[in-house]
Amino acid sequence: MQSWVEEIDRRARETLGQGRVADYIPALAEQDANRFGIAICTTDGAQYTAGDAQEPFSIQSLSKVFLLTLALRAHGEALWERVGLNPSGMPFNSLAQLEAERGRPRNPFINAGAIVVADHLVSAFATPSKHIQDIARTLSGNPSILIDRHVLASEWQHRSRNAAMAYLMKAFGNIDNDVDAVLDAYFACCSLRMSCLDLAVAMNYLAADGHALATGKSFITPDLARRINSIMFTCGMYDAAGDFAYRVGLPAKSGVGGGIVAIVPGRLSVCAWSPALDANGNSVAAQHALELLTDKLGVRSADIA
Ligand code: GLN
Repeated sequence: MQSWVEEIDRRARETLGQGRVADYIPALAEQDANRFGIAICTTDGAQYTAGDAQEPFSIQSLSKVFLLTLALRAHGEALWERVGLNPSGMPFNSLAQLEAERGRPRNPFINAGAIVVADHLVSAFATPSKHIQDIARTLSGNPSILIDRHVLASEWQHRSRNAAMAYLMKAFGNIDNDVDAVLDAYFACCSLRMSCLDLAVAMNYLAADGHALATGKSFITPDLARRINSIMFTCGMYDAAGDFAYRVGLPAKSGVGGGIVAIVPGRLSVCAWSPALDANGNSVAAQHALELLTDKLGVRSADIA
């Protein structure tokens, strides 16, 4: 498999130059568009890396997977009274459906949905952002993972759209806590810096029936892991979820930092990263890399259903 990841690294780099680095906050616009990395972690712990796999980057919406996992562990099915389970067919930061649907976001992987999930976390933990940082460290086995203060300050300064969603949901009674506290927790999660290898190891529990590789213990139940994979499959790539399912066919989650994590249940977790994004906010080179990987593996959704 090591020779595969090296070949994928070489071929994915051929797409560098396409797409644009996220520029909704200055701290992300500074990223170098020519970086690319990939890390694979199998359920028995073997690791394969190529390119900039060890370079920490801003995980952004990849953190929505951690947020959802923690909220489902803490609150279970009650979460679905406040957040839906269907693809939105809209950009991840759209406000359009929120007003029409009385402050109930379509799913937990668009910004509004993750803000509701962050509200759960603020209710459950005294220091939610420290808690999520601790979880990222524990699951990856890397104690040096940090929240990037520069990105956090930039998110906060340019928060108008996310704040508008949070206030609208508060007006509909779907946010329990102080809006600033909820946004602070949400932005702190987005601002975690992790590498492809950190993320492939940390999210391996989704490939391994809930078993966390770095701790050797069960993190969530097999049933919950299966359900989170289903939500990633239908909603993880925003309004491009259907295209991605056709091209790659795996449960996946993307972030505007350029990372995409994908899961082959029972086999492996993979993270590919490159900062330049397509119009839907998904990394061009990382998507291409995952498409090459599933071609190599010969797996598509039909094999894992
Ligand atoms: N921090 C970003 C935002 O709030 C996260 C979005 C993303 O990664 N898609 O808009």
